[in-house]
Amino acid sequence: MSKSTPSPETVLDRQCEQRSEPGFMEAVLESPAHRVMVFHRGQVLMDGTGPAYLDPAGLPGAMVPGTSVVYLGKVAPGQEDRLPVGTDLVLHALPHDAGDLAWVPGGGRFAAYRDVAAEFTGLDVHAFVEALAVANWHATHRHCPRCGTATEADWSGWMRRCPQDGSEHFPRTDPAVIVAIVGADGRILLANNRQWESNRYSTVAGFVEAGESAEQAAVREIAEEVGVHLHSLQYISSQAWPFPRSLMLGYIGHTLDTVAVPDNVEVVGARWFGREELQAAVLSGEASISHRLSIARTLIEHWHGGPIAEPGDLA
Ligand SMILES: [Zn+2]
Repeated sequence: MSKSTPSPETVLDRQCEQRSEPGFMEAVLESPAHRVMVFHRGQVLMDGTGPAYLDPAGLPGAMVPGTSVVYLGKVAPGQEDRLPVGTDLVLHALPHDAGDLAWVPGGGRFAAYRDVAAEFTGLDVHAFVEALAVANWHATHRHCPRCGTATEADWSGWMRRCPQDGSEHFPRTDPAVIVAIVGADGRILLANNRQWESNRYSTVAGFVEAGESAEQAAVREIAEEVGVHLHSLQYISSQAWPFPRSLMLGYIGHTLDTVAVPDNVEVVGARWFGREELQAAVLSGEASISHRLSIARTLIEHWHGGPIAEPGDLA
């Protein structure tokens, strides 16, 4: 019953070959047609219900010192409701101590991904996730890991070089595994995290350690957190999760074990649900599950065989 995942459509063409060429970024910034996303402290400048894509003509001539400027990509067809096809999108990630932001157009309302992304369309989600990931990297990798010298950004914001030893440094991504556990009877085992309300359930996740495969990490994490052994794993899909820099690798994991043993450190409860049982529990409010933008929800609905309705859907 293995079924392949459709290839995602390109939303923002990152121009990976071109952006490292000398003069590329200068040419983009000289064009009045490019648009600017502004980030500050991990939040995006908003315009209505989506990110602001600012006309550079409305920005002050001098940039805030310490701003990271990054080429995000060229808008692909299909996003015309937000920006014209071919528009070059550039990120201005302001430094943490950017001072007075009164110059920021639109009243300077910044928003975090978790608070606004449910309202976003394709381009808004893609641009936000890419911008947040690369902004996080610039904010935390200002010095050379070899010698400590302050590094300088190049390649349109996609590389930082040490002027002392010439070493080149690139944005990092931490792999993590996330697993929907399915038992021999077809039920799913969902976990309640210590930090959540007691009726909230989700899949189990953890980081891949150095020298470990994703599958080894999945088996280890599931054994540690809920005490069941996985005998097989089916890869489903992945999701960039830049909080601050994860790539979530999503699996369905099968177990013959029937008794879950929460570790009582991260996981304080674990419960088996049948398909109809989970849908009924979500509708009644007895259980709440991860939101629809998350890969956890994707995995749960993959197991369920279709979308799971929320109480609000029926209103
Ligand atoms: Zn160095």
